[in-house]
Amino acid sequence: MGQAESDTDALVTIVGGGVHGVHLAVRLLRAELIGPDALRIVDPSGLLESFRRKCRQCGMVELRSPFVHHVGTDPFSLRDFARARGREAEFVPTRVGAERPTASLFFDHAEWLCDRYDLESIRVDARVTDVVDRRDGVRVETTGGRVHARWCLLAVGHGRSFTYPEWATEPDSPRAVTHVWDPTFDPDAVGETSTVGIVGGGITAGQLATTLAQPGRDVVVFARSPFHVETLEASTDWMHVSKAMERLHAHPPASRAREELVAEARYDGTIPPYVFRRVQRALEDGHVDLERSEIAVATDAGGPVVVTCRDGSAYCLDELICATGFDSPYDGELFRHLRRESTLQTGYRGAPVLDDDTLRWLRADGSPSRIAVSGIAAQQVLGPFARNVVGARRAGKLIVGFLESELEGERPGRSPAKL
Ligand SMILES: Cc1cc2nc3c(=O)[nH]c(=O)nc-3n(C[C@H](O)[C@H](O)[C@H](O)COP(=O)(O)OP(=O)(O)OC[C@H]3O[C@@H](n4cnc5c(N)ncnc54)[C@H](O)[C@@H]3O)c2cc1C
Repeated sequence: MGQAESDTDALVTIVGGGVHGVHLAVRLLRAELIGPDALRIVDPSGLLESFRRKCRQCGMVELRSPFVHHVGTDPFSLRDFARARGREAEFVPTRVGAERPTASLFFDHAEWLCDRYDLESIRVDARVTDVVDRRDGVRVETTGGRVHARWCLLAVGHGRSFTYPEWATEPDSPRAVTHVWDPTFDPDAVGETSTVGIVGGGITAGQLATTLAQPGRDVVVFARSPFHVETLEASTDWMHVSKAMERLHAHPPASRAREELVAEARYDGTIPPYVFRRVQRALEDGHVDLERSEIAVATDAGGPVVVTCRDGSAYCLDELICATGFDSPYDGELFRHLRRESTLQTGYRGAPVLDDDTLRWLRADGSPSRIAVSGIAAQQVLGPFARNVVGARRAGKLIVGFLESELEGERPGRSPAKL
């Protein structure tokens, strides 16, 4: 759709066209609650591009989650898609739970759904800079103009907030240090005979190390703790309405207690068995070296970087890539702006105060706004899988559930398209 037109009316504007934004759009259109003419997805990166890029940057070739987790609504849509194209071999067996799709199968299916619902035609190629909640609608300010909508769904992921170790945040930190999630990081640009350091001991570091390991290139992983193997990112108890979820909701919304419970429930920094086996093989074959100490200092050596670890060992590296995860989900640009400029309620560490049944962001007076949140920023409601595909499906059900009754009577005299 290109640039946003000034004063364009949309019933629903989705901010972010990643896994969560695309799933919300598919769910809304599929439920025939709204036609494509009344829906916008504002995203400057392209649909699913952010996730696709991250998978490519760390060399992720298969998903960690089972094949029923995808951006469509019917749990078996991906299986049927694969069967119809003779691609069943792209389901990777796993020791625990259902088979997992390859990343290319997952993305081909997602792209097929985007084409089927013609989502690219409703994408506004712009970044949202402000969202103003009003009694009768929402004003969405974008770098390409203003969009008026009745409802706004925020699905912006982590934004660009990722974590660097402290030594890498010094003003004079070496140029050779980068982050695997930095949009400019390109694994194909890593020198064929370079000595590469990777900081981290979780799934991303493991995948990146085994992807970059090749004859002629030295790869050293700096992992301060032993590898911790887990199939998923939390217990499956958190994938559905459960006692665990009830315990979470017993605490006040956007509270420290909820945040800590979610953090405790997440197996952050873990590595699934299939990646662990690859790392083990690479270590045994000598394609990857493991340094068990933490980097204390990194110094620019006029191109390469010299690192000194706490145990006194030192390395000279051509490139040093941090696979040290994401920062707070509430500290992306848009959330920080809304915290400062809007009257929407925030709580511990800036978490949005959301209604547990609808994911609507509450106003200062406690009434639900016209803005709802999906993705990691909704983790205090949806638990440790909020960011995941299964979290998008759960958020989709809640949001479409409340919109169903709210949109009734708000349609501007158009019948929804049958897709
Ligand atoms: C390498 C990797 C592997 C993963 N594997 C799995 C897996 O196997 N299974 C699973 O369930 N989960 C997995 N996850 C977790 C999760 O599913 C992904 O992180 C997913 O991409 C989250 O989707 P999202 O839509 O919230 O965020 P994103 O995919 O990051 O999308 C957010 C979108 O919002 C846009 N945006 C941000 N700010 C603005 C703004 N101000 N205006 C307009 N647009 C904006 C961005 O451009 C982006 O396109 C994985 C995550 C990573 C990083």
